[in-house]
Amino acid sequence: MKMPKQFEAHCPFCKKHTTHTVERVRRGQASTMTHIVRQKNRANGTGNQGKFSKVPGGDKPTKRLNLRYRCNVCKKAHPRKGFRVSRFDLVEG
Ligand SMILES: [Zn+2]
Repeated sequence: MKMPKQFEAHCPFCKKHTTHTVERVRRGQASTMTHIVRQKNRANGTGNQGKFSKVPGGDKPTKRLNLRYRCNVCKKAHPRKGFRVSRFDLVEG
């Protein structure tokens, strides 16, 4: 898909619609202290590990985009819901 580099969106800091600039950022590291990670560490060892026994499956064909939307008024960036797309281009205008 093609996405404009700048577009009007709601800024949670200004609490109104302002012009936002789209920035691609690298995917963050998953937390090591989440509930599921600790549960998995507990299961590691001998015997049936329940849902953690599953063989890791294949990857999905597309990756979820990680985007930041920077408000041009207050210069603060905020995330929005990521979406899956195979091709992603930022276009002028
Ligand atoms: Zn703002």
